[in-house]
Amino acid sequence: MNQLEKRKARFARSMVRSAETVLAELEGNGDLPEGMGYFIDIMRDVFIKQDKSLISTRLQGGDNKKLIGTYCVMVPEELIYAAGAVPVRLCGGSYEASCIGDDFVPRDTCPVAKAAIGFTSLDLISLYQMCDAVVVPTTCDAKRKMGEELSAFTEVWMLEVPHIKESEGARKQWLEQLYALKKNIEKFAGRTFTAKKIRRKKLVAAIRMIGRAQYQARRLYETRMSFPPVIYGRDAMLAINAYSFDTASCWTDAMTRLNDELDERRQKGRFVCSKREPRILIAGSPPIFPNWKIPCLLEEMGAVIVADESCMGSRYLYDPVGIAEKSMTDMMVGIAARYIMPCVCPSFAPNEDRLFRLLQMVEEFRIDGIIYYVLKGCVIYDFELIRVEKIMKEKEIPILRVETDYSPEDVEQIRTRVEAFVEMLERKKLKKKGG
Ligand code: SF4
Ligand code: SF4
Repeated sequence: MNQLEKRKARFARSMVRSAETVLAELEGNGDLPEGMGYFIDIMRDVFIKQDKSLISTRLQGGDNKKLIGTYCVMVPEELIYAAGAVPVRLCGGSYEASCIGDDFVPRDTCPVAKAAIGFTSLDLISLYQMCDAVVVPTTCDAKRKMGEELSAFTEVWMLEVPHIKESEGARKQWLEQLYALKKNIEKFAGRTFTAKKIRRKKLVAAIRMIGRAQYQARRLYETRMSFPPVIYGRDAMLAINAYSFDTASCWTDAMTRLNDELDERRQKGRFVCSKREPRILIAGSPPIFPNWKIPCLLEEMGAVIVADESCMGSRYLYDPVGIAEKSMTDMMVGIAARYIMPCVCPSFAPNEDRLFRLLQMVEEFRIDGIIYYVLKGCVIYDFELIRVEKIMKEKEIPILRVETDYSPEDVEQIRTRVEAFVEMLERKKLKKKGG
């Protein structure tokens, strides 16, 4: 075994251990909804078993469909499905992969980009190597430069996302970008896939299929408003995160079963905790499996994450495509609008909508406190913290900023701060109830 192989084997073992620890912790909850088993199995197949045939059966069915990797939430999956391929969201959450990525990027790059490069450059999990091409939106600096690095290992299609979405010019430019992406997919399809030009009927079907997934994701979102809660945030967020590695239709079926089960639990008064536990909103950079450090810590400390605004969580599947007519042009316009207009990713400026969305969430979910999660190097989320703090101060909602990366080294230090924050929220809640 040469040095590289030894290094890969060491990282792979360590990643399997990290992923297994998180999944075992989730499964350790004796009252875990049965419907969660499906999503846990997806994560186990991808990160632990790493069995190509299992992944291939799940994603490609018997048809040997091609896989297209995507990053961020601005890549229209409808176009990929309509071409007969399957999208796989590749934003990475592994500490070990981020260590490999360190060899390729400056030290202060965010771990999401580091992990993506790490996974792609070294065959740590098969999924990255199984993708035939990847689409990288030019959202933040990290993603933009990451695309360039990835092109040394795989076929990369950059997708230029406007940063000012309100202007007419930006919308026009964005629509042009989507037409160019469509062409790329079709050309690639003609060259490599068994499929085909994107046809109107196929696109209608793909929009409907993703719409069904979005409907179920919204059901879960609304279920999490329950007071007391019927599901822990660490479970709900993992179920959404698993969408990255599944087909939209299979995921929708599994999410329907989970939602039905949660409805039944709520009717029977089977809650995961009482009304006393502080209700937390996680805002900021996206928690991505297997880096479940913050969700697990928070709920271990006695709080419950009832809401998140993560682009790997609640924001992932929030807004459906609205199409009045079903001509190809109407659908393209509808898709273009859906992927940027309601999106409150901080790569957009101005981004006032995000503040309204957060205030709305605080009301709807009866939030007691916010964990503002900042991945080291993620400047755009950190930038917006000041304005979030200002509006939340007016609402008397405490915020704890937690800056971290994927390393396990700061767990104890974060635990102490989170514990103190949760205790403060508990006291505040008790006082409010008493007074
Ligand atoms: S927050 Fe925006 S830029 Fe960052 S990973 Fe999510 S979609 Fe991409
Ligand atoms: S938005 Fe932040 S976390 Fe996401 S890729 Fe950019 S720098 Fe990294």
